[in-house]
Amino acid sequence: MSHKKLIWQIFPPFLIIIVCALLAITWTISRELSSFQLRQATSDLEARAFLASKQLTGNMTLANQATVDRLCKELGKSTATRLTVILNDGTVIGDSENSPGQMDNHSNRPEITQALQGHIGTATRFSQTLRQNMLYVAIPVFEQDTIVGSIRAALSIAKLEQTLSKITLKLVLGGLIVALVAALVALAVSRRISRPLGELQKGAERFAKGDLEQPLPVSAVTEISGLAEAMNSMAAQLDERLRTAIRQRNEQEAVLTSMIEGVIAVDTDQVILRINAAAARLFNIDIDNAAGRHIGEVTRKVDLHRFIVSTLTSSDPIEAELTLLHQGEERYLQAHGAPLRGASGQKIGALVVVHDVTRLRRLENLRRDFVANVSHELKTPITAIKGAVETLQGGAVNNPQDSRQFLGIASRQIDRLNAIIEDLLALSRLERDAEAAEIDCAQENLQPILASALQSCATIAEMREVQVSLFCAEELTACVNAPLLEQAIINLVDNAIKYSDAESVVTVEGWQDDDQLKIKVQDRGQGIPEEHLPRLFERFYRVDAARSRAIGGTGLGLAIVKHIVQAHNGEVTVHSTLGEGTVFTISLPRLPVREDSNNGIV
Ligand code: ADP
Repeated sequence: MSHKKLIWQIFPPFLIIIVCALLAITWTISRELSSFQLRQATSDLEARAFLASKQLTGNMTLANQATVDRLCKELGKSTATRLTVILNDGTVIGDSENSPGQMDNHSNRPEITQALQGHIGTATRFSQTLRQNMLYVAIPVFEQDTIVGSIRAALSIAKLEQTLSKITLKLVLGGLIVALVAALVALAVSRRISRPLGELQKGAERFAKGDLEQPLPVSAVTEISGLAEAMNSMAAQLDERLRTAIRQRNEQEAVLTSMIEGVIAVDTDQVILRINAAAARLFNIDIDNAAGRHIGEVTRKVDLHRFIVSTLTSSDPIEAELTLLHQGEERYLQAHGAPLRGASGQKIGALVVVHDVTRLRRLENLRRDFVANVSHELKTPITAIKGAVETLQGGAVNNPQDSRQFLGIASRQIDRLNAIIEDLLALSRLERDAEAAEIDCAQENLQPILASALQSCATIAEMREVQVSLFCAEELTACVNAPLLEQAIINLVDNAIKYSDAESVVTVEGWQDDDQLKIKVQDRGQGIPEEHLPRLFERFYRVDAARSRAIGGTGLGLAIVKHIVQAHNGEVTVHSTLGEGTVFTISLPRLPVREDSNNGIV
């Protein structure tokens, strides 16, 4: 279908109507005018013929032809009319324009025939005599109630026709001017209608492109202004809805982005609809190129694929635990899947939410191990005590030497139990205080702390014939909790002495390295095999459990050291070479750590 501009729909029909109306009016007027003129001329000619008949009364005979003809010529001249006098036999006896003798018998002329029958005869025809179109009016002439002849008045209708065509021309010209003016008015009216419609069209195109803020101009035409107002209100509503939709989308986006849980939404063909940053991180997916792609294209985690398929086939929410290898480490994910439903309740995909429970799992394992370890550690001295008591009960109590021996065993094992419980309590206190950030630190002189720790180990050092040396500048200070730090140094020095041979040397050194305080405890003992180093600071971890127990170790000393150092926002490292010895190094920040960076958690 061809599209025409509104102006071309309105303007041509308008123009055709105007032109047709004007043509009809012109034609009707000119016809009416022509018949009016003819009627006027006829009655005029009739009157003139009557006037002439008055003057010719009594002369209507062939004998008076000369008089009649003269009168005719005089009257014809004075009235500018052709006058012809005809006797009732058709003989012309006078004519204002011609000589009657040369004129043929007029009885067969229709107007004469009518007149001689007593009527007023009229006719319009071409005159052979005058060689032009003529209007003839003939009246009967009576003498004593007898028709003696007829007088005919004639007028050239060429003049009438000329006048008529002049009037018609003027009418046509006037009509054309009116048509032109009407056409211009029609054009203006069409424009007035089409221009606001054009603006509406442009506005609608703007709306379609999303520019909903600029309203459409309101036209003076009621219907168009109604349409513009309706479209403006539609645009305002649309704008409002769009803003709401954008706001909701941004809110959703913010919620999804800030979620720790990974969220993946797929359609029924497993094509990703939405994915949040946490899920992208967990499954190693490029978040920017994920939407619109099949899940199998962006990640090869088989467990996840299976779970998505199960969610898509199930009509109820499902749960499962996924295990995946992420950067060489096993990760445990708790996954929840639910069908995604459209507005009418039909299934349009699946929503999967995964929660990384790896840390929880590790903690659970740690706790389990810890409980097992504690039970095991406690069980050993308890078994020994029980054995000693039973032996005593079995009769050994009666032998003073045996009694002393078994009571000694029981007492040592009770000391051991006590040491383990003390260490466990110290650890849990440390953990609790570190969590609550309740470790009180003050700017302390380091040298006295180290000296005091060495003093505490002096007896065992002497017993084992190990020499302990201290190197520390007196003015060295740091922000520490003195009793805790002393405890950590005691544990390290105690180990260094215990795991050194007699006459060996243990060195304790303190120094400043930039804004860090360093404390080094070095022995020249047997050293620790490398494979044990990563787990050395775990609770109850021992390189040689039997030896450790034999020399009174609880397996908690290094765990306590680690916790004390961490409570100071520092770190402890170990370097060991088999047969050469071991070096433990503590690094602490010298200045107080700001509250908001406590334990590195902001
Ligand atoms: P324990 O009470 O058994 O000494 P620790 O936690 O203090 O427990 O130490 C854990 C283990 O680390 C010890 O059992 C021991 O095998 C090893 N170890 C600690 N310090 C040294 C050291 N200086 N030289 C060699 N081995 C050490």
